[in-house]
Amino acid sequence: MDLMEFQAKELFAKHGVTTTLGVVVETAEEAKAAAEEMGGVVVVKAQVKAGGRGKAGGVKLAKTPDEAFEHATNILNLTIKDLPVNRVLITPATPPEEEYYFSFLLDRSNRQYLCIASVEGGVEIEEVAKTNPDAVKKIAIDPGTGVDADKAREIATEAAFPEPVFEQAVKMIEDLYKVFVEEDATLVEVNPLARLAGDKLEALDGKVSLDDNASEVRHPDHEEFEIREEADHLESKAKDLGLNYVKLDGEVGIIGNGAGLVMSTLDVVAYAGEAHGGVKPANFLDIGGGANAEVMANGLDVILHDPQVKSVFVNVFGGITACDEVANGIVGALKILGDEATKPLVVRLDGNNVELGRQILADANHPLVTLADTMDGGADKAAELANNQAA
Ligand code: GDP
Ligand code: MN
Repeated sequence: MDLMEFQAKELFAKHGVTTTLGVVVETAEEAKAAAEEMGGVVVVKAQVKAGGRGKAGGVKLAKTPDEAFEHATNILNLTIKDLPVNRVLITPATPPEEEYYFSFLLDRSNRQYLCIASVEGGVEIEEVAKTNPDAVKKIAIDPGTGVDADKAREIATEAAFPEPVFEQAVKMIEDLYKVFVEEDATLVEVNPLARLAGDKLEALDGKVSLDDNASEVRHPDHEEFEIREEADHLESKAKDLGLNYVKLDGEVGIIGNGAGLVMSTLDVVAYAGEAHGGVKPANFLDIGGGANAEVMANGLDVILHDPQVKSVFVNVFGGITACDEVANGIVGALKILGDEATKPLVVRLDGNNVELGRQILADANHPLVTLADTMDGGADKAAELANNQAA
């Protein structure tokens, strides 16, 4: 589960990471009231589970409560990367003098943790990695020994935190590591980690992904972080399109025909996912009998707009609607979607006219599409692709 900034900051504060919690509100009136309460300049920040909010106009400074009202009105009307902004965070604004980047993440392929740090902040870290790769330090962490005071010092030295904030950085690195391991996170990111006036180090933004495998038994307390509206958004869109869709919390989008087949597909994908980083089905979607291009395009459209989805498994048994029609449906859907189709698709067809259906897909030779012969094989491939994309 990915957390919103204000939730990430709550976890930061819990573990002693310096941050300003602020107030989360859902209306411009409340934003104004919060700004009055705080006095001085405040920052109004869109709370959505997406990066690049600043660029999208979702982070604004307000000098007066009226300005806070105005910015909140605008920001609450925004949609950032397909996500409607339903709440904003108001915090007192202190201008950063320098911006740094810091993160801990799970490095699945090397079976260890990785710390990424850069004191060349203020721009996107991906940009720094491209233009000045030496400025982005990557430090491997042995999960067995973790990050103690010595390791934190080593990281701060490697990242070259400047002298006036160095000791604060060491402490913050230790505390961020506590957030990472004690909360069972797979990602803890601070961008920007800011040096404020008076050489005070503070986490101005926070991104945390929690490992759902730990939620039920180890962290029942994490349930409070669940915000249902993203799911509601996709479900209402599906409903408008007349699709039988239920959003789930995984990474592999599922399309099938017939409720029984779709349910079995969910089971098979969940099982296959165990061997691929624990990926899970992202949804239930039964496109029913008439799997034509339009229905297929609508189904893919909903699934591809789920930001959690990393791959899609189309598992169709050709009955009354034969496999060649389904295959034409998929080819047509990809044409309709064009550039909007960006995630790999694994297709398993069986039943009526299966040879012709497979031939149509093979001939179309779409770069995103992989054909699978069996349901198990398709589930395994889709889980593998989802895990690779997530890494
Ligand atoms: P993102 O674009 O979604 O990563 O959102 P950020 O929270 O990182 O905000 C983007 C930029 O807005 C940051 O790089 C800062 O320069 C600025 N910013 C964010 N939070 C604050 C704050 O609390 N105070 C001030 N003065 N600037 C902020
Ligand atoms: Mn940021």
